[in-house]
Amino acid sequence: MKIQSAKFIISNTDYKLCPKENLPEYAFIGRSNVGKSSLINSITERKNLAKISGKPGKTRLINHFLINKNWHLVDLPGYGYAHVSKKKREAFEKMIKDYLIHRKSLVCLFVLIDIRLKPQKTDQEFIRNLGRESIPFVITFTKSDKVSKTKAKYNVDLYKKHMMNEWNKLPKIFISSSKNNTGRKEILSFIDYYNNEAASNF
Ligand code: GDP
Repeated sequence: MKIQSAKFIISNTDYKLCPKENLPEYAFIGRSNVGKSSLINSITERKNLAKISGKPGKTRLINHFLINKNWHLVDLPGYGYAHVSKKKREAFEKMIKDYLIHRKSLVCLFVLIDIRLKPQKTDQEFIRNLGRESIPFVITFTKSDKVSKTKAKYNVDLYKKHMMNEWNKLPKIFISSSKNNTGRKEILSFIDYYNNEAASNF
């Protein structure tokens, strides 16, 4: 898929106020600083579509972008902030959960994981809840340029092994780097495929 246009539409704190559910939608989420904004900019070939946060956890809104006038890309707030009050954290966790459960046009959620890290409890819990709620998702490892190919494979295999303890089927996995655009083509092909599949539902 070639990106012809990419436009910011609206930011919301409530899924009920999001744009009409008339286009297939793909959302991106991950722990703060995972490289979500960078990946969104990489796959849309825009330098500043999603803001690259100076301060971890700045985006706490559901941000809708219209891509090629025929699908929505959604930048969801990061999760797992250590330095946020419990009350605030619970409020935006609820916002995310409501969006994921109720948003009918959501085709797939991209869960981003930093390839350098061992499996993290916050991610495991988040993924477990996706299973519980039957929310379709894929895993995208980020920052692959920061590790050697061998280390990348080792960490991804470790992740898979970890997941196999709880899942009998692994989700689709992408490996990405925003620095050298690794994974960009694969992610866009995946979205293109599902846009065509989903066309009859919209
Ligand atoms: P977000 O908080 O998840 O949106 O993360 P950002 O996109 O703001 O990235 C956090 C930091 O990681 C920034 O300093 C980025 O420049 C850096 N970063 C993000 N993706 C990559 C990547 O693929 N490779 C490298 N080397 N650095 C990255």
